[in-house]
Amino acid sequence: MTANLLEFDLEGLAAFCERLGEKRFRATQLFRWIHQRGAADFDTMSDLAKSLREKLKTCAEMRALPVITQHMSADGTIKWLFDVGQGDAVEAVFIPEDDRGTLCISSQAGCAVGCRFCSTGHQGFSRNLTTAEIVAQLWFAEHFLRKHLGVTQRVISNVVMMGMGEPLQNFSALVPALRTMLSDHAYGLSRRRVTVSTSGVVPMMDRLGAECPVALAVSLHAPNDALRDSLVPLNKKYPIAELLDACRRYLAFAPRDFITFEYCMLDGVNDTPEHARELIALVQPGKPQALPCKFNLIPFNPFPASGLTRSPNARVQTFSKILSDAGIVTTVRKTRGDDIDAACGQLAGDVKDRTDVAKRISKQRTVMLHPVLEIASVETKRDLDA
Ligand code: SF4
Repeated sequence: MTANLLEFDLEGLAAFCERLGEKRFRATQLFRWIHQRGAADFDTMSDLAKSLREKLKTCAEMRALPVITQHMSADGTIKWLFDVGQGDAVEAVFIPEDDRGTLCISSQAGCAVGCRFCSTGHQGFSRNLTTAEIVAQLWFAEHFLRKHLGVTQRVISNVVMMGMGEPLQNFSALVPALRTMLSDHAYGLSRRRVTVSTSGVVPMMDRLGAECPVALAVSLHAPNDALRDSLVPLNKKYPIAELLDACRRYLAFAPRDFITFEYCMLDGVNDTPEHARELIALVQPGKPQALPCKFNLIPFNPFPASGLTRSPNARVQTFSKILSDAGIVTTVRKTRGDDIDAACGQLAGDVKDRTDVAKRISKQRTVMLHPVLEIASVETKRDLDA
């Protein structure tokens, strides 16, 4: 069977090289070609022995994910829908800012957690992505963007695992993918610039801290268990007190000295001044026990099945001020890519269920794109809606 080399972190690739009867250090050269230079063809790997290249051609490949659609927003945000087979599709979003380029990527096709305010959650769970499928999103985006922008240096400076899926429910595929992101021989991202976002899978938060600590964002969305149970069903298994204890333990390993709490602002649900004061009491029960944290308030992006609406701006500002006045660093997330449905919680917003995805894939031309190729098909949202 042909191995997809995107599946391996450096250690895994070294083991693969050994199985081929090659020295382990060959893996470093190979890893650099694949991830730093975006090579998809062994013949371009000029400093590898010809005999090794020939051997690799018989048993290995770098298998990209077919791109179903690509949308470019007026604000520079780019969203890709990738085909992962059998009617499933996942999304990745690139968000350019003055001082960074952030790629938001998916870890699962669908999601089993089923948060009420999340369109992916409403889609249901299909399957875990493999390491190769997680890494392929970054591999494609980085090398596509370099080509598109006409640059040779790195474009993506930050990766957030905030696309479709609960990354900590796909732990065994996630960790080698994170190691590839962090490797100096691949993308060379610092641990502070790779963020895993979780809805609170407590045992896996501990494992992430022990095995591959990166920045952590926790989807909190409610200040008490009764409300959080109704918004994030996983809370019934791991209630807020356990979740906050896990956050405290994580800080001993974390590359940042705070946890980011994500809080989606839902009109009339979780956005009153009283809710803000409850949050303060949660994270600042008394100064010595205070949990170092930041809050990121997210304007909700409504979708019909949720039955929820976005909090008015004035209420978001009042909420933010109450937290800030208590000394908690609080930001309100700028919405990006609104015109292409790439804003938070909108991923797969128009990929309602697997049947729809299958129809959509068969209706549209699936284009196998590789970073070294020009975009073969750039569709606008209007094209898609037509
Ligand atoms: S918010 Fe995250 S964990 Fe919750 S349903 Fe959506 S993808 Fe899953």
